[in-house]
Amino acid sequence: MKSKMIVGFVMTALCVNLAFAVEDIHTGTVVVGSGISGMKAAIDLKTAKKDVVVVEKMPFMGGTTNLAAQYFVVVETEPQTKAGKTLTVADYLKRKEKTGLSKEALLREAEQLYAADGIVKWLNDNGAELTRVVSDYQIGIAGGTSLGPRLMQVMSKKAKEVGVPVKLNTKAVALIIEDGKVKGIEVEQGKGIEVEQGKGIEVEQGKEKYKIFADNVVLATGGFANNPALMERYAPEWKGLPTTTAKGSTGDAIILGQPLKVLVEEPAEVYLNPSMHSQDGNNVSMSAARLEGGIIVNLKGERFCDDYTPNYTTMSRLMMKQPEGKSFVIIDDKSMKASKRLQGFKQKGYFVEAPTVAELAKKIGVPAENLEKTIKRYSEFVKNGKDEDFGRKYNMKTDFTTPPYYATSTTPGVQTTPGGVKTNSFMQARTTDGKIIPNVYVVGEASKGTATVYGMWSGTKAAEHILSK
Ligand SMILES: Cc1cc2nc3c(=O)[nH]c(=O)nc-3n(C[C@H](O)[C@H](O)[C@H](O)COP(=O)(O)OP(=O)(O)OC[C@H]3O[C@@H](n4cnc5c(N)ncnc54)[C@H](O)[C@@H]3O)c2cc1C
Repeated sequence: MKSKMIVGFVMTALCVNLAFAVEDIHTGTVVVGSGISGMKAAIDLKTAKKDVVVVEKMPFMGGTTNLAAQYFVVVETEPQTKAGKTLTVADYLKRKEKTGLSKEALLREAEQLYAADGIVKWLNDNGAELTRVVSDYQIGIAGGTSLGPRLMQVMSKKAKEVGVPVKLNTKAVALIIEDGKVKGIEVEQGKGIEVEQGKGIEVEQGKEKYKIFADNVVLATGGFANNPALMERYAPEWKGLPTTTAKGSTGDAIILGQPLKVLVEEPAEVYLNPSMHSQDGNNVSMSAARLEGGIIVNLKGERFCDDYTPNYTTMSRLMMKQPEGKSFVIIDDKSMKASKRLQGFKQKGYFVEAPTVAELAKKIGVPAENLEKTIKRYSEFVKNGKDEDFGRKYNMKTDFTTPPYYATSTTPGVQTTPGGVKTNSFMQARTTDGKIIPNVYVVGEASKGTATVYGMWSGTKAAEHILSK
């Protein structure tokens, strides 16, 4: 009886919600996208007592940020210094310069890295536990917990604390442009969502359209790896590759900005994930396995590169040249136990497991003799601290002396698309005719950058500029 009444109440609430048209809204800033970059901009604005509204087209917050696997790329932060890491930002940038990074990208990275200590502190003050110093340029969450979900926990808790309104299932479909000026956005909201949200249910009963008028628009819509047409147009070399990105990464900043002729990088930079595992219709990043010391072998059971090459594009190209384009990441139980993320994947059945290297080889169809030889040789390198075959320098933590052994098949996939809408240093959008759009900001992966640190940094920059107006 009681449960019937609850169902009746919910149905009534749903119908009441459906009966009313949604009214237009007026606010100071509308942020499109609830990943790390959009949420940081919104939190900073609301903390400074400014009016802000976040719209998110999915039934949940966090986009690709939810998927961020393992580590923050930062240098010279307090946890690193405390752990005795001496790499300076200047030295790290010299290292990056050698990889052929453009001057513009280097400058942006420099600004971001010099701000990193403050970013890590802000996150840790809000409960992130970014304390696991993995290397001189990487910090992870304590206990090897996945990075992205923890970051989104922090952002949503903080957003609630300061009172940022987040409208789920609400998609920005166009910019409102009057007399050449941007006045806000038009949105489509799934009907009945107010009642259904929180349960993560998308209600497809037609869409309610309304307008959000705002002095500033922050486009924080993420990348475009899930939009095949944009991949073909802006990143043709990698079209057709599977992707590890979120469903909502469809390049909406590029699409929304088209009437304003926003400048888009061409060909766009694409970051590949050289350790993508596909199973049960999911593409997941297994980079944690390499981070914890894993090696990559081909179908012959042989290593073919520095398995931790920080340049993922080079590594992905090498992987595609291997027999049948197939590779496996191999780890031992020590690596497995070091990472909660990997243990989660093991539970899902993403790893093949065996008590000996020879049996593991048999299970994955590579010559046992070769795999044994490869692992024996590599474990000598770990003991001596020198990879004589490929010069691997990072995370050589596994000497493969702790059975059982694990393997997971891996291929390259498109991880992020940091090419995107170009901005000035205040994150204001640039146009193809060299103009700046003063009240349209593009942050995070939607602009020229990637990774969660960049999301934090660029969201902060946009908010700072809005507050300075
Ligand atoms: C598998 C994987 C592993 C990764 N690992 C790491 C890592 O270890 N370390 C690291 O630093 N980075 C990592 N990254 C990269 C990092 O996750 C992203 O670059 C970063 O989180 C992007 O944040 P964002 O705020 O720009 O976008 P997102 O987090 O993608 O947020 C964008 C949001 O905008 C919403 N949206 C889009 N269009 C609209 C619209 N029209 N209206 C309303 N809402 C809209 C989307 O639904 C989404 O929620 C990884 C990425 C992937 C895919």
